[in-house]
Amino acid sequence: MKMETNPPIIGPKEIRFKPEASLDFTREDHRNEMSETLVWVRNRLGKSWPAKIDGKEVWTASELVSLNPSQKTEVVGKVACCGIKEATLAVETCTAFQNKWGSTPVSKRTEALRKAAKIILARRHELCAWIVFEVGKSWREADADVIESIDFCRYYGQQMDELATPLVRDIPGEVNQTIRMAKGLSIIIAPWNFPLAILCGMTAASLAAGCTTIMKPAEQSSVIAAILHGIFLEAGIPPEALAFVPGKGEEIGPFLVSHPEVAIIAFTGSLGVGAKIYEQASKLYPGQIHFKRVLAEMGGKNAIIVDDDADLDEAIRGILASAFGFQGQKCSACSRVIVPHSIHDSFVNRLIEAAKTLTIGPSDNPTFALGPVIDQEAFDRIEETIRKGTNLGGSVLAGAVESHLHNGYFIRPAIFTGLGEAHPILTEEVFGPVLAVQAWKNFPEAIQLANNTPFALTAGLYSRSPARITLTKNCLKAGNIYINRKITGATVDRQPFGGFGFSGMGAKAGGPDYLLQFLIAKTTTENTMRRGFSPETVGA
Ligand code: NAD
Repeated sequence: MKMETNPPIIGPKEIRFKPEASLDFTREDHRNEMSETLVWVRNRLGKSWPAKIDGKEVWTASELVSLNPSQKTEVVGKVACCGIKEATLAVETCTAFQNKWGSTPVSKRTEALRKAAKIILARRHELCAWIVFEVGKSWREADADVIESIDFCRYYGQQMDELATPLVRDIPGEVNQTIRMAKGLSIIIAPWNFPLAILCGMTAASLAAGCTTIMKPAEQSSVIAAILHGIFLEAGIPPEALAFVPGKGEEIGPFLVSHPEVAIIAFTGSLGVGAKIYEQASKLYPGQIHFKRVLAEMGGKNAIIVDDDADLDEAIRGILASAFGFQGQKCSACSRVIVPHSIHDSFVNRLIEAAKTLTIGPSDNPTFALGPVIDQEAFDRIEETIRKGTNLGGSVLAGAVESHLHNGYFIRPAIFTGLGEAHPILTEEVFGPVLAVQAWKNFPEAIQLANNTPFALTAGLYSRSPARITLTKNCLKAGNIYINRKITGATVDRQPFGGFGFSGMGAKAGGPDYLLQFLIAKTTTENTMRRGFSPETVGA
């Protein structure tokens, strides 16, 4: 097998970004505060939230009803469901404000982002509680979501402050300057699985760059999005610069994507929707005088390779966290494990026994390791995948719905083995607690199996061999490769996150290139050796 190596293209840089630390829930005071905040937030569930356009509340005839996936009769909130009329208004008002926002001093824009980070930090328990109720994250996962949003606001603020310095390349007799300017109106189309962090990150980058911005959150997490929008305005983002337009993706999404005034579409979500957006955005619509830029971060079919000298206790711990953390509903989640043929059976037994210890129940109760999947549609799809996987020759080794947990969308982890290479469970993103085990006979085959997917998001290796670790770093096809640790949980700046292939077409989030996607550059060159000057003309 031919192994291709890529020379490093980003050299080591001075470390200067300090990510926010997680809450330590082993501390009683943190646990107590979280429990009390959950009660406080629970008392505020069920209210209605408007859209916000040009700073004005917009109520619609129909609403998106957001349910607690741990307790599906509990309404988390009802959010305005915008249609074409509201989307049109948002585009018009943001377009009218684009020049003003784009020419607002960078320091003023980034100051608002730093203030947003402060507000999020001050409200971190409350935001965690909303995330627990609206999407069913555990306390720890919810806290990770919150701190990532803080990091994004600070990081993109800091990056934009640096990018604001013009690039000067003068030579005698010639002044050369390159500046960066906002490309134009952005729409942010976000998923529900990082309801705060991803929406916040894409929005913060767009605003830092000076782009007026329309937030279109996922239907399932529109309440958290409404709260985030309020935080940005409280932090000083002008209401004309940031519209909140919740609604059904398939209804307002194509309208916003194809609107001639929209310059940037920042999307995170599934491959199917991302591919549609890419196609729609590639066309020129009547009145459009620019090419749209599409940033699309999509799914994965991520593998972890276990080497024959790996510490299996560590490997199993990391695999369970990567595959079943937040019920496997992370784009970075591990869905394939590739183990040496010689230990396949014993490894699978250990993995199943370990998976059986993962307790499952409502996410507001921190004693449970796993919570629910997001909604009925996901529940049905994952159950069907498990059923089909079994029927098509795979053996399901753990996995059954807990009948006593009928109030929420609970699915036990399922671990498959013995699937043919083309089996959908090995090739398609399931986005749930479903893991497949494959066997390798020699190490290059392990890498080949891991790379056998059009996705290229995350991947990992458990090994003690320096040579194999190097080979893996060079040859695994993934945007983020993790060695001897779990493959989820990237940290802003330290691990810029994002893939290639079918996993993504933008620059990495939380990395040095991300903001550039919202900017255009203008270079001026002046010959200062010219002869003679014309007299100043009043009003010139
Ligand atoms: P989704 O694609 O169903 O929806 C994402 C967003 O697109 C939502 O806001 C939705 O309303 C909107 N949308 C739906 N149809 C649309 C259309 N026709 N035009 C425009 N917008 C439309 O994804 P999801 O279920 O919310 O999120 C899960 C997916 O997101 C998974 O595939 C996961 O891997 C991916 N994801 C990727 C990353 C990453 O960084 N690569 C991070 C998180 C999630």
